[in-house]
Amino acid sequence: QKRTKKGRVGVFDESLREQLLREIRLRDHLENAIHRHELFLVYQPIIASETGQIDAVEALLRWRLDDEMIPPDEFIGIAEQYGFIRAIGLWVLGEACLAGKRMQILQEGLGISVNVSIQQLLDDDFPTEVAATLKRTGFPAHCLDLEITESLFAHDKHRLIDNIKRLKELGVQVSIDDFGTGYSSLSVMQEFDVDYVKIDRSFIWTMDTGGRAIVEAVSQIASAFDYKVVAEGVETEDQRRLLTNMGIEYLQGYLFLPPVPEDELMQHLG
Ligand code: C2E
Ligand code: CA
Ligand code: CA
Ligand code: CA
Repeated sequence: QKRTKKGRVGVFDESLREQLLREIRLRDHLENAIHRHELFLVYQPIIASETGQIDAVEALLRWRLDDEMIPPDEFIGIAEQYGFIRAIGLWVLGEACLAGKRMQILQEGLGISVNVSIQQLLDDDFPTEVAATLKRTGFPAHCLDLEITESLFAHDKHRLIDNIKRLKELGVQVSIDDFGTGYSSLSVMQEFDVDYVKIDRSFIWTMDTGGRAIVEAVSQIASAFDYKVVAEGVETEDQRRLLTNMGIEYLQGYLFLPPVPEDELMQHLG
């Protein structure tokens, strides 16, 4: 009896220890990942539902450490926790704008969506850095869309409102990402001047049960507030048809294309 108990504790300690060691290893490598050229971007199209044409592409960050691909859901949190996210986020923005510039040679007016962390948006220097990046890369402000995760609205509201206002004054667009998963969805819509809401994929995947009513409600609210709606995680033809019939303007998901390298994305433009 005693022995089993001790054994269990041992197993628990072991996995916790492994987890901590992994986090420390990732943290130590992440600090230099930009300089070591371990980070790169992939791109996933956002499709206009009516025409089936690519309207914009979302830049998604990838990290190859030795031979392992570390998922962003794991390393973005570490970057935020250890203070690397501002540098990484700024690098992502610059790379995405440069890639956007190259892609626009094939397709004029193509939009680029970039994910922005709360810590970037809470930084009063961020709007200035965005302006400088647009200037340096020559990417048009109105083609840049910054995706903000909804839960960030739990933070210093006045600073966020102010920084979003400054970004809008530059001419960039702003989206609420993962819409419906965070809190205060409705007040967010009222208080923040955003252009798009991206309905979280969990609702798209449950449209044959409860998700459909939520997608419909979000779509109606969005049109009342004059926001455009993007449905994420579209994987099936049935979902595409249903969403298009509901009047959702933009669709994104594996049904069209998974995130791919720039050269592969280029083959779908024009
Ligand atoms: P997100 O912004 O919600 O990005 C969409 C995620 O859904 C991506 O995962 C994408 O690969 C995946 N996805 C797209 N279509 C489908 C589909 O049809 N089915 C399924 N199962 N998945 C689909 P990814 O690339 O692993 O990124 C995860 C999250 O990491 C992103 O979620 C975003 O929150 C964060 N992230 C990625 N790149 C960046 C970045 O440059 N900066 C920041 N701050 N966060 C980033
Ligand atoms: Ca996103
Ligand atoms: Ca999302
Ligand atoms: Ca997400």
